Amino acid sequence: MDRHAFVTGGGSGIGLATAKALAAAGWRVTIAGRTEARLRDVAKAIPGARIQPLDVTDAEAVPEAFRETVAAAGPISLLVNNAGSVIAAPFEKTSAEQWDAMLDVHVLGAVHCIQAALPQMKANGWGRIVNIASTAGLVGYRNLSAYVAAKHALIGMTKALALEVAKTGITVNAVCPGYVDTEIISSAVAKLAERRQQSTKDARATFAAVNPQGRLVKPEEVAAAVLWLASDEAAAVNGIALPVAGGEVS
Ligand code: NAP
Repeated sequence: MDRHAFVTGGGSGIGLATAKALAAAGWRVTIAGRTEARLRDVAKAIPGARIQPLDVTDAEAVPEAFRETVAAAGPISLLVNNAGSVIAAPFEKTSAEQWDAMLDVHVLGAVHCIQAALPQMKANGWGRIVNIASTAGLVGYRNLSAYVAAKHALIGMTKALALEVAKTGITVNAVCPGYVDTEIISSAVAKLAERRQQSTKDARATFAAVNPQGRLVKPEEVAAAVLWLASDEAAAVNGIALPVAGGEVS
């Protein structure tokens, strides 16, 4: 089996940590995202990495991007659906456009990529799909209704598809990080600090306090979970939503 991984949102945060961990474990990696300059920059630190500019919400561009990737670097055996962003707003102030944006990137974005990758995985009789969901896919959080709903939907899709492909050598799982030390959280910390007129350090402590371990999760800790789900040894692990959150949820 050819170990070639396609990581969406691979230019930063969890996706980048995952790409690095996969490359260190011997996988060939394609990193995809919308900001080509950033992909180019970070790819230098990932041995043999290929970059693929891609907006996962663009239903027409996704199949073409996967065709290009396979032509250039061979069949994809691991798809990590990690691309995402957060919209935080009270429910009554969350617009229809914001709902669309969350469902587009977290649910349909993953669906487009899976539809593009699945036929070849089936033909090869081996495949791994790992969806980076969130603890927000397992429980609710205030002022994040669209994000929470989208991540719940992503986990639902994960469980249903896992059953459909169970006899094909493919597994489909979700990883559910708590608050992770990445750009998404840095910008949430900055906004909270401004709103509460407090220091960045104090705002950051508010997020860390949600985790029973009293800290933010490291991107590398999420990457380690992906690596395990991608392994041959995890072949019997299918349709799970694995929290990586220090005990915040179980
Ligand atoms: P991040 O550093 O902001 O990474 C998000 C990545 O997704 C960026 O590289 C971004 O690159 C890419 N992206 C966004 N929209 C995209 C689109 N439409 N098409 C392709 N790429 C897109 O934040 P992160 O924390 O690592 O987030 C990664 C995933 O983890 C997200 O799905 C997030 O919901 C999830 N997560 C994060 C946390 C946390 O606390 N940080 C917790 C639980 C789950 P471009 O802008 O260049 O496209």
